[in-house]
Amino acid sequence: MLTKRLGIDLGTANVLVYMRGKGIVINEPSVVALATRDNTVVAVGKEAREMIGRTPGSISVIRPMRDGVIADYLITEAMLRYFIGHALGRLNLIKPEVMVCIPAGVTSVEQRAVRDAAEQAGARRPAHLVPEPLAAAIGAGIPVGSASGNMIVDIGGGRSEAAIISMYGIVVSDSIRIAGDRLDDAIAAYVKRRHNLVIGDRTAEEAKIAIGSALPLEENLTMEIRGRDQISGLPKTIVITSHEVTQAIQDCLASIVQAVRSVLERTAPELASDVIDRGIVLTGGGALLRNMDVLLTQETGVPCQIAENPMNCTAIGAGAALEHLDVIKRSLPTEEESLVASL
Ligand code: ADP
Ligand code: MG
Repeated sequence: MLTKRLGIDLGTANVLVYMRGKGIVINEPSVVALATRDNTVVAVGKEAREMIGRTPGSISVIRPMRDGVIADYLITEAMLRYFIGHALGRLNLIKPEVMVCIPAGVTSVEQRAVRDAAEQAGARRPAHLVPEPLAAAIGAGIPVGSASGNMIVDIGGGRSEAAIISMYGIVVSDSIRIAGDRLDDAIAAYVKRRHNLVIGDRTAEEAKIAIGSALPLEENLTMEIRGRDQISGLPKTIVITSHEVTQAIQDCLASIVQAVRSVLERTAPELASDVIDRGIVLTGGGALLRNMDVLLTQETGVPCQIAENPMNCTAIGAGAALEHLDVIKRSLPTEEESLVASL
């Protein structure tokens, strides 16, 4: 039996597993439902996600990754074990070789936590790590091995990351904890302020996806959303518009734009000129927000394009990175660099 090779995108919002020869075999939300009595796992992934906000006191639903890093170690490990097990299927006697992504600029402690969790969850030792922007770039089909500057911007659930990549290395990067989840929070806060309506995270996310836009749309879309009236305390339905969503998420988007600009500002002239030629490639679920590419093009002056299947790039790239282990190792921050980053 051949050793299976897995690329894992351990995201704040979704976990994707890519298997060499098969493609994406797991694509599930990073959510786990636990029995509160003894912390046993009740459900993982989609099934657990359906339970958010709907469980009795005996079950708690948890998102073990927050802001791109492990917030709850044991639950992350249980979730990984479940997904790796499902990816391999039955009769998986040989431990798979695994490459897991980590956000650029996480501390060495956080790096080790991801490696340990993957190993505890059944990966062959050592489990390999790859910086997320690099994996995303490889998965987006960018020629990361060449001596030229390529820019990748990944907008996920917990983090937005912008990086310039050349020769398999990250030359300049920025990573901020403002991404999809914060957009959802901003929409919920807006609806509460403007309409006195309390809505859940899922509802806010649905509105973002259904009618949201980074720039005002010509055709103002509308959507009915349900929540609880803050004054009467009773269920209520209101209609919100695209323009309102755009307004609600303005500040978050400005922070993301600022992160991208700060990377461009710190990029050496030769690399910057490559980036202007080749453009910025967008990945992650946030790349699918209407007009996100237009907003970034407008605010940076550099043409932006959305990668094909932007939500799959990181997992595909992590899988592909297993074929370039020696150069990938070089791209990880050293202990000292991570120490500096954590200060
Ligand atoms: P992560 O890597 O953190 O798991 P993903 O790259 O899987 O994140 O992206 C998840 C985020 O993308 C979520 O915040 C989700 O709401 C957002 N998202 C997914 N589809 C869309 C869409 N069509 N428009 C806007 N946001 C989207
Ligand atoms: Mg991601």
